[in-house]
Amino acid sequence: PEDEYLSMPWFGMDIGGTLTKLVYFEPKDITPGEQDEEAESLRSIRRYLTKNSAYGKTGHRDAHLQMDNVEIRKRKGSLHFIRFQTTDMGNFLSLAKQKGMAELVTTVCATGGGAFKFENDFREQVNMKLAKFDELDTLIKGILFAEIQNRTECYYYENARDIMKSEKKAFDFSQPYPFILVNVGSGVSILAVYGPDNYKRVSGTSLGGGTFLGLCCLLTGCNTFEEAIQLATKGDNRKVDKLVRDIYGGDYDRFGLTGDLVASSFGQMHLKDKRSSVSREDLANATLVTITNNIGLIARMCALNEKMDKVVFVGNFLRVNPIAMKLLAYAMEFWSNGTLKGLFLEHEGYFGALGCLLQFNG
Ligand code: ADP
Repeated sequence: PEDEYLSMPWFGMDIGGTLTKLVYFEPKDITPGEQDEEAESLRSIRRYLTKNSAYGKTGHRDAHLQMDNVEIRKRKGSLHFIRFQTTDMGNFLSLAKQKGMAELVTTVCATGGGAFKFENDFREQVNMKLAKFDELDTLIKGILFAEIQNRTECYYYENARDIMKSEKKAFDFSQPYPFILVNVGSGVSILAVYGPDNYKRVSGTSLGGGTFLGLCCLLTGCNTFEEAIQLATKGDNRKVDKLVRDIYGGDYDRFGLTGDLVASSFGQMHLKDKRSSVSREDLANATLVTITNNIGLIARMCALNEKMDKVVFVGNFLRVNPIAMKLLAYAMEFWSNGTLKGLFLEHEGYFGALGCLLQFNG
């Protein structure tokens, strides 16, 4: 059965609660002989995936994340990173069938809940078997591989204590252990990672990226994640939240709480006149700040408990979301008096799918 995994095309798939992530390996070392023998359908799939950047209604290739000159199972090539909404799985399967996937006997390595949910659909519609892997195992494998391949994978925010001045800077993550890993997808999982094959899931929360997007759509009438982030960028949570100064008239000095800290998220919204003066932008910003700070707090408690000083944040909640990343960086640094460091990775939501593709990397 090992041979089945070795026949091209090579994919790794992470079928999540919101987004499906697909990593595709494009071989770049094809010999002329191989080229002659290669099935037309295989060639056409390769062309389709690598020449386009949009697929169907919600499919996108993140060209800026492409990794070149990688070696996997003794083959050299490029890795392509593609995502689409999991609700579009039906369309994805029809497209795959139309492109001749069903004629190629293949096993695809898959992870995420959807690897279970859609297993029969894959078999029936495109003749593909799913080799299923655990999403947290593959998440860590993907992170370690990306760190080795890409020297600028990991970064932090310099001057994290001053959000206006904080700036992205490369971080040397070649000695990663131990670290806390916070995966912010639809929901949140928090792991303590001690070594390459040694980790435990220490906590989690259902208040995650899905909560941000869901509440934002309800409160502002927006329809997409991109729109929600755009609104949040232009808004001000202080019109929505109740701050320490709204309660104290200034700082709560005795315990070092400054006046501009949020005392109560959405705490002003019970007042009719305040409600009528907030904008959609303010509501989007407050939702983002609420969810992000809550994740930051739980992550910090986990780091404290595990006595670890590096906290790595991944997951697609962080996609095009510098507000959340800077807030998390600030929260780690400020509330720990500089002992904790928030770290981020360029391939944010793709590590599970990447780790999946690497499963038979002998
Ligand atoms: P999952 O595996 O649960 O789908 P992801 O790591 O893919 O988790 O993250 C999903 C979250 O990413 C969403 O809840 C949302 O907050 C955010 N997100 C980023 N980009 C998008 C997008 N294009 N569509 C929907 N959600 C997105």
